[in-house]
Amino acid sequence: MTASNQISEPEAPISSEMTLSLCKDLSIALAKFPKVRLGHLPTPLEPMDRLSEILGGPRLWVKRDDCTGLSSGGNKTRKLEFLMADAQQQGADTIITQGATQSNHARQTTAAAAKMGMACHILLEDRTGSNDPNYILNGNVLLDQLHGASISKRGGGTDMNDEMSALAAKLRAEGKNPYIIPGGGSNPIGALGYVNCARELSEQAAAMGLKIDALVHATGSAGTQAGLVTGLAAIQSDIHLLGIGVRAPQEKQEQMVFDLATKTAAHLNTGLNIARSDVRANCNYVGPGYGLPTDGMVKAVKMLAETEGLLFDPVYSGKGLDGLIDQIRAGYFDGMENVVFLHTGGSAALFGYSDTFDLPGYTE
Ligand SMILES: *Cc1c(COP(=O)(O)O)cnc(C)c1O
Repeated sequence: MTASNQISEPEAPISSEMTLSLCKDLSIALAKFPKVRLGHLPTPLEPMDRLSEILGGPRLWVKRDDCTGLSSGGNKTRKLEFLMADAQQQGADTIITQGATQSNHARQTTAAAAKMGMACHILLEDRTGSNDPNYILNGNVLLDQLHGASISKRGGGTDMNDEMSALAAKLRAEGKNPYIIPGGGSNPIGALGYVNCARELSEQAAAMGLKIDALVHATGSAGTQAGLVTGLAAIQSDIHLLGIGVRAPQEKQEQMVFDLATKTAAHLNTGLNIARSDVRANCNYVGPGYGLPTDGMVKAVKMLAETEGLLFDPVYSGKGLDGLIDQIRAGYFDGMENVVFLHTGGSAALFGYSDTFDLPGYTE
């Protein structure tokens, strides 16, 4: 550390050999945790050249975690690889989880449970008050049912953790062995999936000779960002990580991410410390609330569909993109060459939000 009366020198950038060696150490640390294979990994890292040209900022890339393969994909698959292995180790025969009506996490969990031959109960909280039949039954809710899960509804503001505990007690009384996965799969076990993603992305970039300056993604229940913060710290990466919030205000979101990253680092058990300054969230793109559409989200989803042929979702990745696009225009990434957007998936939710996009219909 530099004392205050000394001239501080910039730290020497870490060499790619050093990065690869730290990635290997991290792989070894992660291999101690049980994991089941659910996803198609590594996911591709692709340039978005049409979008980059239109925006005129840094070169933009997309890390395709929408292509994890499980029931139309998404970021929960990486978390579930560790969570379902833990459930299996505990002899669980039934999975319980919760989320919003159009929860991508619930949908990927129902698919994972189906694949592992476990029963699945999903508690869906009505956070938007929408009565649109597509919102209530189509999109992710359609898929939850196809995967054979039982779904039940709870009113907005219900204590969903209490509801899950009550359901678990009822199932135990019936002789079942339930395993509760928290909302979003966000605990230190699930977050290991994104510790691993930080490693995967860094190795992938090194193999392509690509220097990533920043990584941007939508942040909600915090497990994705907490895992990335922990993984990037473990490999001493200088990638600037920015979460775009979809629910909580900035201070609360950053605190949630920091707390979970600290717990995840402790769980990883390699003596790693998480710096509060590595946790950054911009929560200016939430709009009227969680799951409620914004004009910026609608524009961003349409723009990416039309320029890159990519599908994003109305609740998370669409708002994340709105933040990315607006911050490029505001100069946040000025001086950076390569910015990666982590595509966390969610396009199944588009079918629950079909009225939101004001589409022209047939032209003849
Ligand atoms: C859950 C989800 C996120 C947010 O991830 P967290 O780990 O909950 O912060 C982002 N995008 C999509 C599509 C999601 O389903």
